Amino acid sequence: MLFLDGSMGEGGGQVLRTALGLSLVTGTAFSIEKIRAGREKPGLKRQHLTAVLAAAEVGDAAVEGAAIGSQRLTFKPKGLRAGDYRFAIGSAGSTTLVLQTVLPALLSANGPSTVELVGGTHNPLAPPFDFLQHAFAPVLHRMGAGLGLEIHKHGFYPAGGGQWRATITPAAWQPIELLTRLGEPQLRARIVSAKIPSHVAQREASMLRARLKLRADEITIDEVASPGPGNAVMLRLGFGEVTELVSGLGDRGIRAEDVAGNVANEAEELLTANVPVGEHLADQLLIPMALARGGAFRTMTPSLHTRTNAQVIEQFLPVQFAMREDAGAWRIEVQSR
Ligand code: ATP
Repeated sequence: MLFLDGSMGEGGGQVLRTALGLSLVTGTAFSIEKIRAGREKPGLKRQHLTAVLAAAEVGDAAVEGAAIGSQRLTFKPKGLRAGDYRFAIGSAGSTTLVLQTVLPALLSANGPSTVELVGGTHNPLAPPFDFLQHAFAPVLHRMGAGLGLEIHKHGFYPAGGGQWRATITPAAWQPIELLTRLGEPQLRARIVSAKIPSHVAQREASMLRARLKLRADEITIDEVASPGPGNAVMLRLGFGEVTELVSGLGDRGIRAEDVAGNVANEAEELLTANVPVGEHLADQLLIPMALARGGAFRTMTPSLHTRTNAQVIEQFLPVQFAMREDAGAWRIEVQSR
């Protein structure tokens, strides 16, 4: 049994999600205390509880402490099962983070799986569905793993009710190196809106044209099906071997120009950094790289989130991450130990 301190490093939900995922992959039971101690309201929120219950179902696990607000959990998996799953968060909580929890396990299972998810698809502080589709899944594919994605309904805070499906094909892992960009960056924007006035998306599009010199045909505006109102601005940055995606969410009290302006700021920072992998893809590539027992990428200064994730992974798998400054950027590499 592995003992984890949930307050380590960033002290957020990622420590728990990574532990659940790798406990399933390795069959290692674990006990964690001080879950999300670094957050204003510590303990399990609905999204984290859904992730715990999802992991328990996939791994036929015995669980203690699975309740909203719980700051401790014990998780003992019995065996990994490929299958057809459905996980619904009874709120607008992030469904992409629930998938992130069980994905390493289902990629390591003995057959293909499907997962239906219900809840938020475009949430603050979580990967939007489009990030999985355009940034994360293509890299997984190159590493020998299959992740097919289909969205039926978008889900925004507070109504939630988004619906999508992931089709997972077990991985024959191959390490990859993502060290440079190939060619000029290709920028494409997608603005989605549901149940809000059309001038919001138009103003966001104008801002992207002004700030990033996008042409009108490089911006798509989609009115999408969703139980509640919502708006998201997503910008793809094609760097050759890798596509990155930066995003912003509309909310009451935030001007459309600011939503798109923040996306432009983040895009400019990434473009200037001249690396193929941005902050979020960096932390999300660590588990696949560790499962492939090798690989490297160049990115911006690693976030505390990335460093914490690496620390948790090293407790479950026989790997070691090396992070070092490299010609004005950072190189992250994983090695077997
Ligand atoms: P808490 O930190 O409150 O426990 P949490 O469980 O929702 O919250 P974090 O531990 O902060 O989440 O982890 C968030 C995850 O979402 C990370 O993997 C991070 O890379 C990813 N993420 C956050 N924002 C984005 C974004 N804009 N695009 C892609 N991925 C994102």
